[in-house]
Formats: sequence, structure tokens, C-alpha cells
Amino acid sequence: SEEQLRQSQKMEAVGQLTGGIAHDFNNNLAVIIGGLSLLQRRLKRGETHDLERLIVGATEGAQRAATLTQRLLAFSRQQPLSPEPVDGNRMVAGMNDLLVRSLGEHIRIETVLAAGLWKTRADVSQLENAILNLAVNARDAMPDGGRLTIETANAHVDDAYAGEHDIGAGQYVLIAVTDTGTGMTPDVIARAFDPFFTTKVVGKGTGLGLSQVFGFVRQTGGHIKIYSEPGQGTTVKIYLRRFYGEDAPPTIAVAEPQVPRG
Ligand code: ADP
Repeated sequence: SEEQLRQSQKMEAVGQLTGGIAHDFNNNLAVIIGGLSLLQRRLKRGETHDLERLIVGATEGAQRAATLTQRLLAFSRQQPLSPEPVDGNRMVAGMNDLLVRSLGEHIRIETVLAAGLWKTRADVSQLENAILNLAVNARDAMPDGGRLTIETANAHVDDAYAGEHDIGAGQYVLIAVTDTGTGMTPDVIARAFDPFFTTKVVGKGTGLGLSQVFGFVRQTGGHIKIYSEPGQGTTVKIYLRRFYGEDAPPTIAVAEPQVPRG
């Protein structure tokens, strides 16, 4: 079933995540243990040279290990979710100041907001966070400046698209984030959603941005897709389920009760 598929994908992501963490964590433990046992040996022999260097090395290893577990905690933390009806246009417009501040002056920001956009239902802060993640990735792909476009649209997912992708046919709110940056090779696209996959230098990328966005979108029953080519920029499309809410047309026409007059 769809739920089982979702669950197995989640477990796969968690597996990759914990596998990656465990690997890096172990490397740092090896540095700490190696340094401390060397320190112990030197102290036993009464050798006092380089002791401080060994202590500093072990401390740095411990700090890196602590950073890793913090990341794992941040990733897995159960944030309280409060899904509510969301007007995507209002949300995007409301993010303008944040985006200007986060992207810098060398990047032009454009929004193309569809009239009569349907509503979706999501946790607003998570959705904003997802858009911000995509925008920051776009910024990183445009070191020499460029244009970021956020577009909204009503989208009908037909059976053909649904059959080829991990999404049900129906009506969705589309939010597309496009940049004029470096673009991605098919190889990078294939791995982009993997936790800890990053092509950025150490300290700049965590490789968790897109996997977080993926997790959020999937959890709302939506769909995410990357369109990109090296040198051609990137578009990331997020499909969020339409929320009918109170505007929902009645599915069954109820006849007016016939009151006998007499
Ligand atoms: P991070 O940004 O920390 O590297 P992400 O999971 O957000 O982690 O992204 C994974 C990788 O996908 C990035 O390192 C980069 O190679 C690629 N990527 C993501 N977004 C873009 C983009 N807009 N343009 C080019 N490459 C991108």
C-alpha cells in the first residue's frame, strides 16, 4: 500500500542517515581514542612533549562528534506539527523579507503567483522552511548572482504522470523554485534527496536540506521533483495536495425536504 511504501522509504532514509552518522562518529572516536592512548603512554614514560597537541586533537574530535549527534537530533526531533489551511501565495509573499536577507543583493527575487490558487493543508513553518531550504540551495548554486523565481500554480496530476511518479492523480497546489545557477548532473539529481549527500565543501553543506524537504512533502501526501541540467539552472517542483475545506462542493445533491402543506 501507499502507507507501506512511505514507511519503507522512511526507514531507508533513516538507515542511510544513521549509517552516515555512525561512520563519521566512529572516525572521530578513533581520533579521540588514539590520541588519549598515546597521551597515556607518554605520561607513563614521563615524556612531556606534544601533550597539549594530543589533548587539542582529542577535544576537536569530541566536538565534531557532538556536532554530528546534534545534527541527528535536529533531523529526527519530533517538531509539533499543526497542519492548517494554507494560501501558498500569501505564504510566499510573506517570505519576501526573509528571502532578501538570506539570499543577498546579488540575487534577484521574482514571484509569479497564480490567481485563484487553491489552498493546501500543511504546517506553515515547515512549509516555509522547505521553501527557504530550496532558496538557500539556489543561492549556493549562483555564487556570481542570478535570479530566483518562485512560482505558484494549480496543477492537475493526470493518470499518466501519476503512474510514472510516486503521486496519486488529482488536484495539487504547485510551488516551483527556479534558479539560474550551476545546475545538476543526472548523477547528482539521483542522489540529491539522500541524507548527507552534499557536493559542498565541509562546513558549508550538511546534505540534509533536500532530504528534509523530501520528508516533509511526502508526509503531507505530496510530491517533489527536480528538473536540472548542468549550466541550465534548476527547477524544484513541490506538489501539495489541494485542500477543499469549507469550499468543498457537495458531492451528493441533497433535495430540499418536501414539507406537506395542508
Ligand atoms: P546541502 O545543500 O547541504 O549540500 P541538500 O540536501 O540541500 O544539502 O542538497 C544536496 C546537493 O544537491 C547539494 O550539495 C547540491 O550538489 C545539489 N543541489 C541542491 N539544490 C541545488 C540547486 N538549486 N542547484 C544546484 N545543485 C543543487
